[in-house]
Amino acid sequence: MHRSGFVNIIGLPNVGKSTLMNRLVGERMSIINRKPQTTRHRIIGIVSDEEFQIVFSDTPGLVDDPQYALHEAMNQAVRQAFEDADLMLYMTTPDGQVSNAQAFFKRFKPGEFPVYLVMNKSDLAEPAAISTLLAEYEALEIFDRTFAISALHGAGIDALMAAVLEVLPEGPPYYPKDQLTDKPERFFVSEIIRDKILSLYHQEVPYSCEVDVESFKETEDSKGPITMIRALIYVNRQSQKSILIGKGGEAIKRLGTQARHDIETFLESRVFLDLYVKVRDNWRDDQRTLRRFGY
Ligand code: GDP
Ligand code: MG
Repeated sequence: MHRSGFVNIIGLPNVGKSTLMNRLVGERMSIINRKPQTTRHRIIGIVSDEEFQIVFSDTPGLVDDPQYALHEAMNQAVRQAFEDADLMLYMTTPDGQVSNAQAFFKRFKPGEFPVYLVMNKSDLAEPAAISTLLAEYEALEIFDRTFAISALHGAGIDALMAAVLEVLPEGPPYYPKDQLTDKPERFFVSEIIRDKILSLYHQEVPYSCEVDVESFKETEDSKGPITMIRALIYVNRQSQKSILIGKGGEAIKRLGTQARHDIETFLESRVFLDLYVKVRDNWRDDQRTLRRFGY
């Protein structure tokens, strides 16, 4: 008998969804950063064995007050996570409010699938405090089971995986067994560049940036195989463009060098990276632009 299914990880930004995905899938699946909302797209990670295939998805964090069209698109991703789930993991931390979970499931009704509460970052609280919190979540009568884990340090992961497998429906694999994700490499390249922008620039600049990998070609030069990448960074205003580029182009040069280094590690190939910056007015609210970026 073969089991397969979609396990959708959901929760507020920064609770550790990407960290859990990385641990389960064992690859650098989604970019992890201290700043929230790094991952705007739904990212799939696939764990396969002879007897099963689990398709995990890491849903972008829910935003309660949709101020921008962008945030609406993120909420859309949350809705989608309800549509195809065989199991949902609602992730929180010891800091999380029990009332948030209650409000969330009032707004998005659980469907015909089990929901597990996953208390991540259990390393940051006393076991007694965790037990008390888990009891409060159980009292909501929303969750089929509750777990305390540390995605970062690996505690509780085996028990969680066993419980996931227990409810996985019988069915054939959805993807080839050696596939780890449904996203093309160029998607990860743009996420790596975004990640670098987040760590190198401050305040509102990173949040106004969108990265579009325009071309991605594997070719060869005198030194052997090389990947030629051309990426465009869109910003909202001319002032942001100036900050990105920096005095005499210093800032963008540093960004390019650091991003190229990480992309080379990820692709296991030499990389030539060409970065451009363009101003686009109010892209957050421009539906056409949002569609172009795949929201
Ligand atoms: P996401 O926004 O939900 O995807 O959260 P991330 O996976 O990006 O994690 C946010 C931050 O929490 C990162 O700095 C992680 O290293 C940290 N983190 C994740 N899991 C744990 C954990 O189990 N314990 C601790 N102490 N930190 C964690
Ligand atoms: Mg994330």
